[in-house]
Amino acid sequence: MKKKLKIVMISGILIAIGWLSNLLNFDPLIFNTAMVAAAIVAGYQVAISAYNTLKMKVISINLLVTIAAVGAVIIGEYWEAAAVTFLFAFGSYLESRTVGKARDAIRDLMDLAPNLAAVIRDGEEKEIAAEEVEIEEVVIVRPGEKIPVDGTVIKGKSEVNQAAITGESIPVSKETGDEVFSGTINKNGYLEIKTERVGDDTTFGKIIELVEEAQEEKAPTQKLMERFSKYYTPGIILLALISYFISGSVRLSLTLLVIGCPGALVISTPISIVAGIGNGAKNGILIKGGEYLEKSGEIDMVAFDKTGTLSKGEAEVDQIITYNKDKAEVLRLAAAAEFNSEHHLARAIKKKAEKMLETEFNSPINFESQTGKGITAQIDGKEIMIGNSRLFNEQGIEIKPEIEEQKNILEEQGKTVVIVAENKQIIALISIADRPRENAYQIVEKLKQVGIKKVVMLTGDNKKIAESVASELKLDGYKAELLPEDKVKAVEEYQEEGYKVAMVGDGINDTPSLVTADIGIAMGAAGTDAAIDTADITLMADNLNKLPYAIGLSKAANRNIKQNVVFAVLIVFALLAGVLGQKVFLASGMLVHELSVLIVIFNAMRLLRYDIA
Ligand code: ADP
Ligand code: MG
Repeated sequence: MKKKLKIVMISGILIAIGWLSNLLNFDPLIFNTAMVAAAIVAGYQVAISAYNTLKMKVISINLLVTIAAVGAVIIGEYWEAAAVTFLFAFGSYLESRTVGKARDAIRDLMDLAPNLAAVIRDGEEKEIAAEEVEIEEVVIVRPGEKIPVDGTVIKGKSEVNQAAITGESIPVSKETGDEVFSGTINKNGYLEIKTERVGDDTTFGKIIELVEEAQEEKAPTQKLMERFSKYYTPGIILLALISYFISGSVRLSLTLLVIGCPGALVISTPISIVAGIGNGAKNGILIKGGEYLEKSGEIDMVAFDKTGTLSKGEAEVDQIITYNKDKAEVLRLAAAAEFNSEHHLARAIKKKAEKMLETEFNSPINFESQTGKGITAQIDGKEIMIGNSRLFNEQGIEIKPEIEEQKNILEEQGKTVVIVAENKQIIALISIADRPRENAYQIVEKLKQVGIKKVVMLTGDNKKIAESVASELKLDGYKAELLPEDKVKAVEEYQEEGYKVAMVGDGINDTPSLVTADIGIAMGAAGTDAAIDTADITLMADNLNKLPYAIGLSKAANRNIKQNVVFAVLIVFALLAGVLGQKVFLASGMLVHELSVLIVIFNAMRLLRYDIA
């Protein structure tokens, strides 16, 4: 049995014995002895920790309680001494249990961590600890088993439940070449996985670490509370002394000490934050700390990046128009040049090339990426350039009117068009269909429901496409043809207009604006560590619906914190009034105090059950 519970029970029994003897009209000495004993049992630890913190020159709540209890014994109020210490011990027992429950949200998550992995060593299958798998080693995962490492599927096909990472339990199909994550569950197929990361280095390991750190981080309100109680607690002692000199009543002074305990106030903010962050983690939403939870509760504008965020992550090559060049050759050069690019357009080009040409590509030389414009690289001694008009204008490469004309036609169909050049000669246009996500049209409405006033899009893509996406999705505005630094400026302008801006991007090439915004949110971040590092909030799933959830949760957490703080302050004032009006004494004061702490905790626990309507 837990020590805290034992203490509470023994002191409770002693109190019961005391009252029983009183009821049976035994010698009052028995009553008094039992009560003092109960106070010592319940108050011993409290006094010790009061002494320890006092050594560090901190006046703690424990000290207030200790003085009150000792004082009560001295003036002969044995029952009050027992009641105060018993209630305090009981309260802190319940508190640690419920706070523990809030933190369990994280423990539940940790339970999802894989323990064992099946690998082939010396030609034999062996079960080893998941952290001991080596990089590049192949692990075998059978149906129903947990995937023990981050890696790439090299054999087999299956459906995988990635809820541990993304918070979404709809299975995702995985086959050769696909990325899989530690902690996710292989549903129905046999998989062989080449290991890329193990243990703490996996995405899952990162999540656990981040959530643990986040819960330790203090929110501004919490810092304020702590500064406040540093002055408040000694202030209460002073008040008790003054009231003794004025009224001459020790009892009144001791009662002031007890009801002055700022317990509910001190716990009000951290408990809401732990619960809020815990709820987020379970739903694939990583909130970096209390500060960000509080800040995102104040967001009233959301700015989206387009490519990869509002539009589908799965862009597809639509048409390749060539100029005096073989189509397959264009595709080969383009895919090779884009080899090192993570951009969604680059991925689309590479995917198309792999499908059509069935070859592998090697890393090009002199690869250079110009964010928001395109790339240059050298393939087989040829200088390949792929990007938008801006890139070509800057390089002084003329785009002939007939090419411009064809580009316009494609763009009017809502396609993103990149120009491909070989040795500064334009050899092709590649149009890429980068459609808004299926659920994107509901997003504006959902964001408004959670209190967002304005939803806009900031994109590096051209105006025509931006216009068509913005009107299709009924956005409140858009800005197009922006370089990363222009996105920063756009965010700053909105901030100057008085908006609290959340910038949502894929975290790959919009880092500067994510940092500038009041809150930077990266989406679809599973597997991309850079995104997790820069964003304040990371949505692991590649799903827009998690965004209103994250904002709604933050707003709920903020409301929760406010409710708790207001309630705690009201209780302090009510108790103070009660004491001065001689209605509240030691035991009843402590009872109300502990009840208020529990009410604050239970209110915060509601956040664990938050779900968007
Ligand atoms: P968004 O802001 O919509 O996410 P980006 O800033 O990522 O867009 O890109 C803007 C434009 O820059 C693209 O529409 C494309 O024309 C060009 N571009 C960027 N990266 C690449 C690349 N790797 N290959 C070809 N074009 C690119
Ligand atoms: Mg982008």
